[in-house]
Amino acid sequence: MKTMHRAAAALVALAGLTVAACGGDGGEMAATAAPQAPAIQPTNFELQMEASRLNTGGDPRMVHPWRAFYCNLSDDNNAIVLAERQRNSIRMPLTQILDDVWYIGTEYVGQYVLRNEQGLVMIDAGNSAAEMNNFNLPALRSLGLGTGMPLHAVLVTHGHGDHDGGAAELKSATGAPIYLGSADASGKAYAPTALDSSVLTPYDIQVGGRTITVLSTPGHTAGATGFVVRAKDGGKEVRLFVSGGSSLVANNPGLVRAYLASMESTYAMLKALKVDTASNPHTYWDGSRDLIKRIQSEGLKSPSQFVIGNQALLRAMAIGRTCTAAYLAKQDPTAAPSVWRVSELDFLPASPAPGRVAARLSNGWGPVAGQTVSFKLDSGALLCSAVTGADGTATCASTSAPLRAGVDRVTAEFAGASTAAVVDLPSEAAAASGDTGALACRDLAQARAALGTRRGDSGYSARLDVDADGVLGLRDVDAIARLVPSGTTCGA
Ligand SMILES: [Zn+2]
Repeated sequence: MKTMHRAAAALVALAGLTVAACGGDGGEMAATAAPQAPAIQPTNFELQMEASRLNTGGDPRMVHPWRAFYCNLSDDNNAIVLAERQRNSIRMPLTQILDDVWYIGTEYVGQYVLRNEQGLVMIDAGNSAAEMNNFNLPALRSLGLGTGMPLHAVLVTHGHGDHDGGAAELKSATGAPIYLGSADASGKAYAPTALDSSVLTPYDIQVGGRTITVLSTPGHTAGATGFVVRAKDGGKEVRLFVSGGSSLVANNPGLVRAYLASMESTYAMLKALKVDTASNPHTYWDGSRDLIKRIQSEGLKSPSQFVIGNQALLRAMAIGRTCTAAYLAKQDPTAAPSVWRVSELDFLPASPAPGRVAARLSNGWGPVAGQTVSFKLDSGALLCSAVTGADGTATCASTSAPLRAGVDRVTAEFAGASTAAVVDLPSEAAAASGDTGALACRDLAQARAALGTRRGDSGYSARLDVDADGVLGLRDVDAIARLVPSGTTCGA
């Protein structure tokens, strides 16, 4: 039997996965001390599956749709995907999801339209020429398509017919070049402008006065490509990732390995570029369809309901990566991809305060001990750093700079840690320095009133964005509630 890596063994212990063999219904077990049954070691597949569940952090959005779809093959539940294909005949009307981005398509697959003063750009090209003629070209015209508002480009996520089925029609109707990953480009009648699929790091292209970051993400197909778009929401820049290809290819370990590597490079890019939200052309895959329907029923709000925030997006992608690792381990029991664990940092109550900063590092398995947490000011100046104890807490006194209550903002950072078996993902949290009285019921009330408000919007107060994801969300309200002096009654 393969020797388990020590870190993996520790992981098993943390996850409580060690299972004792046992007969009977358990009701008769207490009377006599049975000899210790040998521990059964979990397989790599079981470790990854456990991780895919623990990494959701109990967030219902992460359980469904994110984990449900990325784990459909490892869960033996491909029916969940097949059922969605039946919705390709249900139209979704042109819907504005950001200041300058629209969705149009079906409930199964759709396209994104970007508009600025210089013209239009489209991502993906639909199922067929008829779909373009009946729906997309009229929609583009309603957005101004014409001599002053050309269609500059169509960016295709991959070469399957539900993504480029209308490409030739769009090209002949508008003259727009069709961009496609080079590995999917051969034999395409619409003569695509090839994006080099062998470049596996992000790079920028300019189309129609826009910068778009391109990342080859082989896996679903060899030429799958993702795009990061700079868009506007309430006048502020937000970054939207439109991914290339969704489902894993069953029974093809080579493509599954490529898909795994693509999930990792995508995660790194979304983190580095601080991307705010994502959408798959198959909008059921990542919850985009629900968000679009919400916008249709409530109207587009500012900030847009479509923006989920960088932290949520990174957690979602980590789940997708873990589900992929699980499927690879299922296909190839000798494959031992590392287990990714999503970390979370939370400031302790009454921290940061002048003279003391403290935060707790945890993940779905419990507190994370023995890791360094650094506390910094917005200027980048290091206040202090400390190693987490058994309860995951790192505490230290700021000696290098006196903290000004209610003024200085402190970021706690965990840089991440890894062994061959386990990767503890980096995490950070930020909060304003205050003594216990500095954050009070009025702050909590303000945070509740501002739920969903983005950095820079009117009514926004920087100190209320405790988790520093740019949005005042439920986690901020929770954190502020903890910072209000204990015993205070704040009302509903
Ligand atoms: Zn496809």
